[in-house]
Amino acid sequence: MPDFKVENRILDEEETMPRAQMRALQLKRLQEVVARVANVPFYKAAFAREGITPEKIKSLDDLRRLPFTTKDDLRQNYPLGFLAVPRKEIARIHGSSGTTGKLTLVAYTREDRETWANLCARFLVGGGLKPEHLVHIAFGYGIFTGGFGLHYGVERVGAAVLPLASGNTARQIMLLQDLAPDVLVCTPSYALNIADYARNNGVEPSTFPLKYGHFGAEPWTEEMRLKIESELGITAFNNYGLSEVIGPGVSGECALQNGMHVQEDHFIVECLDPVTLEPVEDFAYGELVFTTLTKQAMPLLRYRTRDIAALDPRPCGCGRTTTRMSRVKGRSDDMLIIRGVNVFPSQIEEALLQVEGATPHYLIEVDRPGTLDQIAVKVEVLPGIFSDKMSDMQRLRDAIDRRIQAITGIHVKVELVAPQTIERSMGKAKRVVDNRNLNG
Ligand code: ADP
Ligand code: ZN
Repeated sequence: MPDFKVENRILDEEETMPRAQMRALQLKRLQEVVARVANVPFYKAAFAREGITPEKIKSLDDLRRLPFTTKDDLRQNYPLGFLAVPRKEIARIHGSSGTTGKLTLVAYTREDRETWANLCARFLVGGGLKPEHLVHIAFGYGIFTGGFGLHYGVERVGAAVLPLASGNTARQIMLLQDLAPDVLVCTPSYALNIADYARNNGVEPSTFPLKYGHFGAEPWTEEMRLKIESELGITAFNNYGLSEVIGPGVSGECALQNGMHVQEDHFIVECLDPVTLEPVEDFAYGELVFTTLTKQAMPLLRYRTRDIAALDPRPCGCGRTTTRMSRVKGRSDDMLIIRGVNVFPSQIEEALLQVEGATPHYLIEVDRPGTLDQIAVKVEVLPGIFSDKMSDMQRLRDAIDRRIQAITGIHVKVELVAPQTIERSMGKAKRVVDNRNLNG
């Protein structure tokens, strides 16, 4: 376990606001945002259809009368059809990293940029960042929001940034040794890749002087957290965001590592059944839907994230009163339906990390040889274990199969592959290759 103790620090009073006061603030801001988007063509048309005017928003329950916004709506209004301010007020443009198809763009005013930096600063401080720390950022910089989002968040706290971006893993390792940064920021899969690469090159990753890390941008499991923590000798925090809502900073863990605090003074979160679009109970999994309350350039009402998670409304031991969201189990687009059973890649990851000899470097291949879907899981095994001894390999394969079956309820084909044969990602890991031709 890491020996560094993260202090519980809170940046802004909104994070600990009594619930009634938070709800009042949300209502006031909801009324303002509805007025702000009334001239965005998409919302103007929807409001006209549904007879919505800003005056009709009298309580937070009226949120449910507002239209949803989807990724498709953004695509149809590409590039900047959702802009709610004159174009000259744009201060920055980012976009989705394009994990699921065509790029979508988002714009920020100066004020939005400030808000965003502050939201990132909040979770960084919640996870231990102090002005005297040096933060190694190995997120991609560019149109993807990860690099710049965290960069300005760190600067807002007054800490130092090492903006390495992703890639050139040998150089990442050299600077982790030479500059001794306190904090690592990247995707969880890249954190593990850095550790692996170091070990393969004779450097013990737990000897890096790193204290803790903030990881996000892709689904990961609790097992993966433990692995990263032990490999790198750090405390690993989860943070969540998406470009459409603002980027990283939508939510993040505090020192207690017990769910991600949603920044509810800036976003209203709903958790809905993705089919009926009715709210699910507290603690039940559903699709997260966000309404941005303070964004100026491109406010969005009820944006459907397709991310599956659960909400916990209880106040946290850290003193924050904001709703916490669970880990994201996966995106509804990544959910595989295999012989009627829903399977998320994160469940496969969870299983692999419980089997000695297996690694979390895996690839799921989906095929439809006849009318039934089949999945095969390619798994890298630990270096010492990949052997010619058929019986050993067979035993490992069976153990993985049994573990996956216990967690997902389905039987999959497991293929063991040699160390370092599955492509490493520098950003978001690609976990699924879908060979089904579902359109044809
Ligand atoms: P893209 O949709 O192209 O990946 P973004 O770069 O905006 O666009 O990524 C946002 C998405 O990344 C989220 O909707 C979510 O699926 C995923 N994501 C971000 N942070 C996390 C996290 N901490 N855990 C799980 N998934 C995350
Ligand atoms: Zn907390």
